[in-house]
Amino acid sequence: LFVSFEGIDGSGKSTQARLLADHMRELGNDVILTREPGGSPGAEEIRALVLQGDPDRWSAETELLLFTAARRDHLERTIRPALEAGKVVICDRFADSTRMYQGLSRGDLRAKVDRLHDLMIGLEPHLTLLIDMDPGAALTRAKARATPEERFEDFGLSLQERMRQGFLDLAREFAARFVVIDGNRAVDTVAADVRAAVSARLAV
Ligand code: C5P
Repeated sequence: LFVSFEGIDGSGKSTQARLLADHMRELGNDVILTREPGGSPGAEEIRALVLQGDPDRWSAETELLLFTAARRDHLERTIRPALEAGKVVICDRFADSTRMYQGLSRGDLRAKVDRLHDLMIGLEPHLTLLIDMDPGAALTRAKARATPEERFEDFGLSLQERMRQGFLDLAREFAARFVVIDGNRAVDTVAADVRAAVSARLAV
């Protein structure tokens, strides 16, 4: 089972990914909790190249190639071996983040994103949980924990709203694998909905 979490910065997806991993382990599953960009030693190196230092170092196109290279390494070294071993893979962001960030917010590259995905990745999660969150509240959260080392995109509220809408549009585009969860509630309430979505998917 391959599950991804998506959402705007500060939506709480990393917390929810961790809680789901704990829950799935308690049920006796072998679980790999991983993240993007990163998730394998090579991909973590690429993460540092992209998210640390001068934000204008790479063009949007080069950044897309770097993210795709990172995903390919993550897929080869971490995700595929785990899935082949029958493990549950829970990933904090996956290709949908590239559709949004490189495809939408940093230039209109969606067609190139899709072509590279088909060419080099070709895998989608069985289930994608979109933690949908009020853009203002998410922005406040994301700002509060931003570190000086890693780039944090302070999109400002209007772009943050556009990203939120973009994720909701993606959920409609890939309706068969997306479940939208209202993240504007207590962590445990959101976590219960996440677990319910996973059990429903497993029951299919
Ligand atoms: O999810 P996480 O907080 O680790 O993401 C780190 C940063 O990387 C975020 O600011 C996000 O905007 C950015 N990012 C990106 N393109 C992706 C994935 C993440 O620009 N495909």
